[in-house]
Amino acid sequence: MNSVLRIALQKSGRLSEDSYQLFKECGIRFDYGTGKLKSISSNFPAEFLFLRDDDIPGYVEDGVADLGIVGENVAVETARQVQTIHKLGFSKCRLSIAIPRGTDWAGLSDLEGKNIATSYPNLLGSYLAEQGVQATIHEISGSVEIAPSIGLAEAVCDIVSSGSTLLSNGLKEVETIFRSEAILIANPQMNNERQALTEQLLFRIKAVQAAKNNKYIVLNAPNDAIAQIARLLPGMKAPTVMPLATEGWSSVHSVINENAFWENIEAIRAAGAEGILVIPIEKMIN
Ligand code: ATP
Ligand code: MG
Repeated sequence: MNSVLRIALQKSGRLSEDSYQLFKECGIRFDYGTGKLKSISSNFPAEFLFLRDDDIPGYVEDGVADLGIVGENVAVETARQVQTIHKLGFSKCRLSIAIPRGTDWAGLSDLEGKNIATSYPNLLGSYLAEQGVQATIHEISGSVEIAPSIGLAEAVCDIVSSGSTLLSNGLKEVETIFRSEAILIANPQMNNERQALTEQLLFRIKAVQAAKNNKYIVLNAPNDAIAQIARLLPGMKAPTVMPLATEGWSSVHSVINENAFWENIEAIRAAGAEGILVIPIEKMIN
């Protein structure tokens, strides 16, 4: 029997675009959009299901889907029996407690006996328990940030990325309780074929992520500076060095990590490098 991997993605929301883009970059094609609920890939044994993000951990636990992409916040909140198999690095946000801007804040004990509105009662509940704070949690499913202005609660606990929603609702962030990013979750009881397909998918995802974190660098250098430049360009093994038509000069090719880039580029220039080109990498397989 030929297995097909069933992958649950958010239908439309803050995870959707980046999730679709990830599969595109992995070379896995499928149609999505306007009312589509599922779609079979034309070039990988996968079927995609388009769902509300809150429902994804449950579907993965029940085995209706083998894999899913959700925010860690939703995975933890729903507390389903699923495995986190990879962090995806997008949809980064935090879950924070906020209070009206004009209110003083001395610390978490200020929440003692207060009402807090949130869509994340489990995450907030365990945080308050850990911190030894007794407060009443009001679960509401949306527009949490208006709760204080309508007298429903003295504080909220909600998702923040830039903080602009809080600001425009007259709130200030006082405590971060959880940091989240998109993750790939899996049903822990997949059969061998599906596990093998998951491995293939993970291999591609890692190649795409590695490519994003690295750049291909080409530069010209006087031969006597190459040893020093090579030390600043660890590359995948050692840099490739090719002679230039100009006597005493070479072209140096290597791979450099995005994080080390600006730090090292100054030193590379100071060592005598010229004509430095930095080129994006499409896929990187180690
Ligand atoms: P659905 O209709 O699928 O239930 P939703 O309204 O519950 O969608 P979204 O607002 O699309 O959810 O957010 C999905 C996930 O994206 C959140 O659970 C969180 O992990 C992440 N997220 C939420 N807000 C932001 C933000 N401002 N910036 C980045 N990521 C965010
Ligand atoms: Mg949702």
